[in-house]
Amino acid sequence: MKYLSCKIGGITIGHGYPIAVQSMCNTDTLDIAASVSQCEALSRAGCDIIRLTTQGVRQVDALAQIKAQLRAKGIETPLVADIHFNADVALAAARVAEKVRINPGNFSRDFDIARAKFAALTDLCRQTGCAIRIGLNHGSLGERITAAYGDTPLGMARAAMEWLQMAAERDFTNITVSLKSSNTKVMADAYRMLYRMMAEELGMVFPVHVGVTEAGAGDTGRIKSVVGIGTLLREGIGDTIRVSLTEDPVNEIPVAKALRTLAASPAPEPGQTSFIIDATDHDDFIIKAAYMAGPDLLDHRTDDFQMHATVAASELDAAQIDAFKDDLMQACRRRFTKPEYIACPGCGRTLYDIQSLLKKIMDATGQFAGVKIAVMGCIVNGPGEMADADYGYVGEGGGKVTLYKAGEPVLRGIPQEEGVEKLVALINGTLKV
Ligand code: SF4
Repeated sequence: MKYLSCKIGGITIGHGYPIAVQSMCNTDTLDIAASVSQCEALSRAGCDIIRLTTQGVRQVDALAQIKAQLRAKGIETPLVADIHFNADVALAAARVAEKVRINPGNFSRDFDIARAKFAALTDLCRQTGCAIRIGLNHGSLGERITAAYGDTPLGMARAAMEWLQMAAERDFTNITVSLKSSNTKVMADAYRMLYRMMAEELGMVFPVHVGVTEAGAGDTGRIKSVVGIGTLLREGIGDTIRVSLTEDPVNEIPVAKALRTLAASPAPEPGQTSFIIDATDHDDFIIKAAYMAGPDLLDHRTDDFQMHATVAASELDAAQIDAFKDDLMQACRRRFTKPEYIACPGCGRTLYDIQSLLKKIMDATGQFAGVKIAVMGCIVNGPGEMADADYGYVGEGGGKVTLYKAGEPVLRGIPQEEGVEKLVALINGTLKV
């Protein structure tokens, strides 16, 4: 078996290399001062790789200026251009960034055209030394793949394999690959299938970028991320990780670093149902406890567990352990006692203050246990990526939002101030559409 590595600026990831921690700016990339400042904060916090939204050539120019300013300050953290649809922007960014993140299937609806554009990008990246992340998300696989495999873990893995196979044939392997979902079971299964396919069908394993997308915020966002990422790290899958929170991206770094530390320690015995956790603070507790007990719940090797925990030398009582257990059971998709929030972390495309809006929506919808509510920052990627949400709140720009029900837009262009109230009315059935 050949284990490949991927060089991103001064960092190499892959088998035998340390797990790299990464995050993404939520600033407008055209706001160079704000973006530089957030990159500095992320770098100081220990972020190894930083991604920025790069939706057009103006953002590529801004990225070049951001990079120059960071390098002038002695900050060498590699920068990744986040491209979704436009192959020409990817080509421009490959001359500036240390890595471009693409979904080549989105380059064109015509598969042959998409293949030709991907080939051109690999040729350029070979010259410039730029790495590529093939980043596919559940809910945005495209018609060709979903017609063949459905919107399933198998479809996600097969879609990625098409591009990896093509890259291998072109002898371009400076690549990482990701298959994210907000559903921890879907993402874990997709990565496992991909890992097996790379080994069995390619005879080579590309480095893997692991993350739970749209995990949300607070305890539930952290626990969901730890369950999804931690399950795979415990199996040796994951060369770079992103904990994706609808918060200041700097908050993601300690969670990811803690996961990296846990992955380097001996894992619990499979099927273990009793745990003793000694934590320094609340976050340390939920991260350690979710990492220890979550993977077996996710894979149905266990159904319950006992936990004795101390936080800063103070023992947690039964009610505190039960509150954590509720969140963990939900993150592992075993028992739903609260609404399920699917919230994007926000990025340079975000069209409103998503952090405060998510909090408002969580406060107003806590009674809808088991209902899946998506809160997405932009109308371009949000609707596709919220996949199987029952209801969605999506930013449109200009102070307007669109509400979705079962994947369909049902109320468009409503003023943001009325959005939460109307969302609640839509869920409880008092608003007919
Ligand atoms: S859905 Fe959210 S994170 Fe994704 S591109 Fe839109 S604003 Fe950015």
